[in-house]
Amino acid sequence: MDIVTLPGQQTAGKVWLVGAGPGDVDLLTLKAARVLAAADVVLYDALVSDDILALIPASAEKIAVGKRAGAHSARQEEINQLLVTKAFTRRNVVRLKGGDPFIFGRGGEELQTLAEAGVQFEVIPGITAASGTSAYAGIPLTHRDHAQGVTFITGHCQLDSRPMDWQGYANPANTLVVYMGILNAGLIQRELINHGRSADTPVAIVSRATTAQQQKVIGTLGALEALAKDPRVVMPALMIVGEVVSLADSLNWFEPAAVSETPAKQLVK
Ligand code: SAH
Repeated sequence: MDIVTLPGQQTAGKVWLVGAGPGDVDLLTLKAARVLAAADVVLYDALVSDDILALIPASAEKIAVGKRAGAHSARQEEINQLLVTKAFTRRNVVRLKGGDPFIFGRGGEELQTLAEAGVQFEVIPGITAASGTSAYAGIPLTHRDHAQGVTFITGHCQLDSRPMDWQGYANPANTLVVYMGILNAGLIQRELINHGRSADTPVAIVSRATTAQQQKVIGTLGALEALAKDPRVVMPALMIVGEVVSLADSLNWFEPAAVSETPAKQLVK
């Protein structure tokens, strides 16, 4: 669908592409909070937590455009068009996305459309699910004894037009973080093992990371498919594969059940 702009017309406003982080409202950046407070309209995804949506001023128009696997959602072209249309009529248009907008968030695609239409924009990064999960599950993504590097991949394997680099992902010296991988856990397990990663490699699946509903299940790569079927695994969930997962027990500090409504209460006085 072509973007409709009026010839010669200057846009009135600006689009702020904002990362909302993985869930815990305290993980929002100060800049994101400031921009949200000044929003005239907010287009948000399904992954943005209720606590963060509660920060949107009552005067702002709220538009849910997000998608969850299988659920009805606005098509990407419709979202792109809506952003351009809103930028012509409102001053501060906030496009709010879970995590970081440039990591599996299609933020780049949306900005390309805005750039073509001559709409001004700024980007505010967010804490991506891998960082939030790693911190709140006690799993450092790199560690001098366990992992030299870390790779983020999407587990939507079959949808990718580019072939997956299983040989690279199976590197035992690296941590592998899989976004959107739960439905393909069996395939991921088989490919990694076929390409040489040990079936004994520790793995973690963390659901609703950084929120009071966080759940963590830990096992080995050889049992990843079964682990993904554990009833404690709910969406959204992230998989971490690698030796660093062995630290999760000793470095765990986050007790979801203990999360209070007043975050300041958790500060050590
Ligand atoms: N832009 C987002 C990722 C969007 S893709 C980011 O930077 O985090 C959606 C995937 O992110 C989910 O399928 C899940 O794998 C992961 N995810 C997002 N929020 C999460 C959370 N709170 N806990 C666990 N995984 C999460």
